[in-house]
Amino acid sequence: MNEPTLIYEKSSPGVIGCPLPDTATPEDKLLELIPEKHRRSDDTALPEITEGELMRHYIGLSVKNHHIDKGFYPLGSCTMKYNPKLNEKAAALPGFTGQHPLAPLRTMTGSLELMYELGEYFKEISGLDRISLQPVAGAQGELTGLLITRAYHRDRGNVRKYILTPDSAHGTNPASARLAGYETVQIKSNEDGIISPETIEAAIDEDTAALMLTNPNTLGLFESNIEKIAEIVHGAGALVYMDGANLNAQMGIIQPGKIGFDILHFNLHKTLSTPHGGGGPGAGAVGVVKKLEQYLPVPVVSRVPGDGNGCFLDYDRPKSIGRMHSFYGNFANMVRAYAYIRTLGGVGLREVSENAIINANYLQALLHDEFDMPYKQICQHEFVLSCNRQKKKGAKALDIAKRLLDFGFHAPTVYFPLIVPEAFMIEPTETESRRTLEKFAETLIDISKEADTDPEKLQQAPYNTPVRRLDEVKAAREQDICFTG
Ligand SMILES: *Cc1c(COP(=O)(O)O)cnc(C)c1O
Repeated sequence: MNEPTLIYEKSSPGVIGCPLPDTATPEDKLLELIPEKHRRSDDTALPEITEGELMRHYIGLSVKNHHIDKGFYPLGSCTMKYNPKLNEKAAALPGFTGQHPLAPLRTMTGSLELMYELGEYFKEISGLDRISLQPVAGAQGELTGLLITRAYHRDRGNVRKYILTPDSAHGTNPASARLAGYETVQIKSNEDGIISPETIEAAIDEDTAALMLTNPNTLGLFESNIEKIAEIVHGAGALVYMDGANLNAQMGIIQPGKIGFDILHFNLHKTLSTPHGGGGPGAGAVGVVKKLEQYLPVPVVSRVPGDGNGCFLDYDRPKSIGRMHSFYGNFANMVRAYAYIRTLGGVGLREVSENAIINANYLQALLHDEFDMPYKQICQHEFVLSCNRQKKKGAKALDIAKRLLDFGFHAPTVYFPLIVPEAFMIEPTETESRRTLEKFAETLIDISKEADTDPEKLQQAPYNTPVRRLDEVKAAREQDICFTG
C-alpha cells in the first residue's frame, strides 16, 4: 500500500494534536450565543492528527520541493541568493506586524521613516532622484515605469507608439509595454551579445517612447555602449528604461542613473535577499530621474522640510499616474530589504556584487572546456552556455537539467535567452561557497560525460525526485482547475 500523502488520509478519528482547556461555560450555553442560522450542521471534517505527525507532514512536504535553504539554486536571472534569517526577525517585530495600514499616521512614524530611508538607500544604489516602493513585483515595476513614460510623453503632446526591446529581453518587457498601450520593436544583439549604437540609431524615430534595456543583459554581459545609446535615445526625445533585475552585479560599482538611465526597477526578491515566494508577495520599487518624479504613483513618502522633522504620505501630486497597489506596497519586504542593507552597509553591498561576479566567472571557467560558450568574454553575475555539443550526442539541455535534480541541485534557467540554442543560464550568486561551485561544476561535467556513454539514461531523468519527468505541455494545455466551496 502507498504511504498516505494527504493530511486527510493520515487522520484517525479521536486523535488530538493539541487539547483545548475545558471552558467554564458548558458547550450548549456557548451555542446559544450563536444564532441558529450561523451554526454549522455538518461535521468540520478537519483532519485529526497528533502534533508530531502534523509536523512531519509539513516538513515532509517542504523537502519534496527544492528551495534555497535546501540546496544550490543557480537559476539564471532570478538571483536565488540565501535569504538571511535576520531579515525575517526584523520583519516579524511586533511593532511592524501589529500595525494596520489605515492606522492614523502619527502611530506609524517608525514605518514611514523606514520607507523613507529605504528610498534614500535606493537612490544611492541607483543614482536616481526619486523612488516609489509601491509596485509589488519586477514586472509591476516595469508597468509603473512605462505608465510614467506614457504620462511624460502625453505632457509633451504625443504619447508615442513604440518601445524598443532587445532580442535578449525577458518576456515581461514586451508584455509590460503592451499593457501600457505600446507596441514593441525588437532590437537585435550584435555578435558580442550586446546592443550596438548603430542598431538603435536605425530603429529609433519620433514615435519611439523608450528603450528598455536589461543591464547587465540576460547573457550576463555589460551593455558597454550604454552612454552612447542613451545619447541617441535622448536625442530622439525618448526615455531609457533599465530592467534592474540584474542589479546584483552593480551595487556600489555603477549608478545606472549616472550613465544614462531614466527609470529603473529593483527586484527586492533578487538583489536585496527578500524571499521569492511562489508568485507571492514581492516588491519591485521604481526609481526615476528628476524630470519624471511628478508622475510617480501616489502616495510617495516625503519628509517635512527642516532638520529632525518626520515623514508623511504625500498625496498632493496632480500629475501622478495614480495607485499601482493598495496601501503602500508589500511593507514586510521593505523591512527585510532595509535590514539587509543595514546589515551590509555600502561597502558590504559592493562586496556582494563583486563576489557575485567572481563566482560567476569562476564557474564559467570551470565549465569552459566541457560546454560551448557562445560569448567568451568576462561575464558579470551570470553567464550562458550552450548544450549544443551534448545535444548532438542525444542529450538536450532539458535532459541535462533534469539529471541535475538527481544530485540535489536546482537546474539553471534553460532555453533562455532565446538567442542561444540549448541555453543554460547560470547565476551562482555571491552566497555560494567555492566548494559548492566546484561540486556543481564537477556534477555537470559528469552528466555531460554520461551523454557520451548513455544518452538514453539522460532522456529519462530524473530518477531520485518525488515525481519523475512531468509532461509540461499537458500541464499547460489541460489545466485541472478545481474550485471548491
Ligand atoms: C525576474 C525578471 C523580471 C521580472 O521580475 P519579477 O519580479 O519576477 O516580476 C524582469 N526582467 C528580468 C531580466 C528578470 O530576470
